[in-house]
Amino acid sequence: MSFLFRAFLNGTDGVFIGGCYLGECHYITHGNFYALNMVHLTRRLLEHVGLNPARVRMEELSSGEGNRFAELMNEFSREIRELGPLAEGEGLDPEEARTKLAEVARLVPYLKLAAREKLARKGNPEGAKENPFTPEEVAELLAQAPTYYIDPDKCRACMMCAKRCPVDAIAGGKGLVHVVDQEACIKCGTCLEACPPRFGAVQKVVGAPPPDTVPDEPVPIVKQRASA
Ligand code: SF4
Ligand code: SF4
Repeated sequence: MSFLFRAFLNGTDGVFIGGCYLGECHYITHGNFYALNMVHLTRRLLEHVGLNPARVRMEELSSGEGNRFAELMNEFSREIRELGPLAEGEGLDPEEARTKLAEVARLVPYLKLAAREKLARKGNPEGAKENPFTPEEVAELLAQAPTYYIDPDKCRACMMCAKRCPVDAIAGGKGLVHVVDQEACIKCGTCLEACPPRFGAVQKVVGAPPPDTVPDEPVPIVKQRASA
C-alpha cells in the first residue's frame, strides 16, 4: 500500500498491478489475496480524498498470457489518459490533493493494523473481487487514527521510545523529556509498548490533539522528589 501511495505522491497518474490467479498461488500465504485487499482499501482511500479509484487496477495474469497483458496495458493506458493527470483530472487543486494523499500515506502502518482482519481475508476468488471496505468504514478508520504523545511529567528520559521509533519521530536526549514529532509520526504505537510500565509516559488519544501542556521541543525532565 505504501508503494502505491509513493507512486501517486511522485506524480504517477495510474498504477497497474498484475498478480497470479487467485486460488492458484504456490505458497500457503496466498499473498495475491492480501495484495488485492490492499488494493481494495487503497481505492477507497483514493475515493476519500476525491481521486478516482480507477487509477489503481489489479488483474490476475499468468506468465503465459503475453497477449492479454499487452491488451490490458493498452486498455489501462487509454483509461488513465481519459481520466487526465492526477488531481487535475478530478478538478482538484494538485497541491491540496497531494497534501491529503501524504496525510493518508502517513497512516498506512496504522491502517494495516486497524484493518488487518479484512486485509487477511481470503475466501473464494469471485467473492474476493468485491470490495470489502465501505466508504463509511474507511472514513471511520481515518477518524479513529490515534495520536501518541509523551506526558512531560512522567517521562524519565530513558530513551527507549526514541530508540525503537521506526521513523525517528521522537526527539529527546539524556535528561530531556522526549517529544513526539506529530508531523513525522506514522502512528505505529511502538513507543507506547516501549515505554517501561513504571513510567507509563507515552499516552494515546483518539480524535483529539495532544494537550497544550506537551512541549514542542525536548525540555529537562521534572526531577522527582526522593520519598521521605
Ligand atoms: S507511534 Fe511512536 S513509535 Fe510509532 S511512529 Fe509515532 S512516535 Fe514513532
Ligand atoms: S517516554 Fe517513556 S520510553 Fe520515552 S524516554 Fe520517556 S520514559 Fe523513556
